[in-house]
Amino acid sequence: MSNADFYSQFSSEEEEFYAITLLGKDGRIIWATQTHWVGFTDSQPRKELREPSRVYARVGKVWANLGQSFVVVRSADQMLRFMVSGGNALVEPDLFEVGFKEFLKPEIAIPDGAAGFSHSSFFEDAAFKRVPNPKLRMRILSRDDRRCRICGRRPDDHLDLELHVHHIRPWSRGGVTDAKNLITLCNTCHKGLEPHYDMNLFRYTDDEKLSPNVKKAAEEYAEGVLEYRRIARESEIEE
Ligand SMILES: [Zn+2]
Repeated sequence: MSNADFYSQFSSEEEEFYAITLLGKDGRIIWATQTHWVGFTDSQPRKELREPSRVYARVGKVWANLGQSFVVVRSADQMLRFMVSGGNALVEPDLFEVGFKEFLKPEIAIPDGAAGFSHSSFFEDAAFKRVPNPKLRMRILSRDDRRCRICGRRPDDHLDLELHVHHIRPWSRGGVTDAKNLITLCNTCHKGLEPHYDMNLFRYTDDEKLSPNVKKAAEEYAEGVLEYRRIARESEIEE
């Protein structure tokens, strides 16, 4: 689609919207939007509070380039249709701010990997427990090839070596117990980490973000939409 064709559905490239994504994953609904920082929680560890931000129409172009569909929502009817079919939508600000006030309140945002935040609905329950459960621990150890990601040593070759599954962003600073924030380190490297918080370690856990695989992302998006529709249909039957 040419730029002129693409922007013909908007008043200008700068027309403002809320960009909303509704997907399903393993029976859960996850939603995403652009957010900005509005404050911190009083609880310890303190967590960031963020609120949805408006974006320009050109965000639709970004989605299109990633092989993701989107709809433009300018009426309550279109909004209802979007709530049933999921995926991406650019929602007119008036419609969103009036009809979806509950989404506009500040929400706890969880640091996700090296940069950015995700809504808590993105994470499994295990992410909010300090200690990784055995299944998650095994997943990290096998992802990391059962070796320390700093020195490369493995217990098979070094008798006194212990492997630890370590939070890259510390739990005390709002880091979650999630694959992207966990890494395998040996006892020596773990003790030697100075400062105890080394952002560089994220490069070992978040390869996808460094070299985004557009085809895979588009497939995951399509699967997420199908799963969302399945969940939406089921909850309709229950009501
Ligand atoms: Zn090591």
